[in-house]
This record gives sequence, structure tokens and C-alpha cells, in this order.
Amino acid sequence: MDRKERDAKYRAEHKAERNEYNRIYRQKNKEHFRQYARDYAHNQGKAKVLEKRQKNQERMRVDPEYRQKWSSYMQIYNRNRRERFRMRIIQSLGGRCQKCGFNDWRALQIDHTNGGGTKHRKSFSSLEKYYEYILANISSGDYQLLCANCNQIKRYRPH
Ligand SMILES: [Zn+2]
Repeated sequence: MDRKERDAKYRAEHKAERNEYNRIYRQKNKEHFRQYARDYAHNQGKAKVLEKRQKNQERMRVDPEYRQKWSSYMQIYNRNRRERFRMRIIQSLGGRCQKCGFNDWRALQIDHTNGGGTKHRKSFSSLEKYYEYILANISSGDYQLLCANCNQIKRYRPH
């Protein structure tokens, strides 16, 4: 009997014992197994996304009509995404102008309480990243809502 056969025989004879051992092991390391499954799914998802992106880029390269369609689709997609971000910030900041109470979101602006807003916004590579940062720091007290009028008045410097 060679080693392989011996191992197989051992496994067969101790099947119930081994199953029990594995069951306890899995239970003891539940969180570990769960995390492993999550990571696996996450990486699989990532690979799929990358593959899709590559295919899309290839198609854009060879098909000008598709490129045109795709870029106008992305324009709308990004505009909606920025709008959703803006809505979330507006909601989190109370939904109305801090000076006068005006509450039509179309004319509400995110004001840096201590100034420097334009410079801060320009330090981000995209508006989305800027919005993400503000959302993450929404309760810092650095941001408030002002309506366009109150914001303009705050900015006004006498000549
Ligand atoms: Zn106002």
C-alpha cells in the first residue's frame, strides 16, 4: 500500500471524526470564512468590471458612432450623479439657506463657513471627489447652505 492509498484509507475510516473536526473549525473561524467569501466575491466583481471596461474602450476605439453615443450617455449619467451628490449634501445641511431660510434647492449653494471655497473646490480632480469629501466631513461645521442671493451678498466687497 503506497502513501496515497494509506491516506485515502485513513480518511475513509475517520470520516465522521474529520467532518466533526471541520465543522467545529469552520464554526470557530466563522468570521474568517465569511471575510474570505466576501473578498472572493469582491475580486471577482472587480475582474468583471475591468473586463467590461476594456471591451468598452476597444469598441469606442473602432466604432465612432458608438463612441458618440457612449459619451453623450456618460454626460447625462455624470450630470445625474453630481445632482444626486448635491441633493445629499443639501439634505444633510438642513435643506435651506442659513441666512434667510430660502429652500428651493435649485438656487442653494454650498458655502464654506470660513471662506476659501473656490480654492478648496479646485484642489480636487473632479466635482464628484469634492462632493464626496464634503459628505465625509459634513458635520465639521465648515460648510453651510446659502441661497444664491445671500451667498452673493456674503461675497460682496465694497469697491
Ligand atoms: Zn438666503
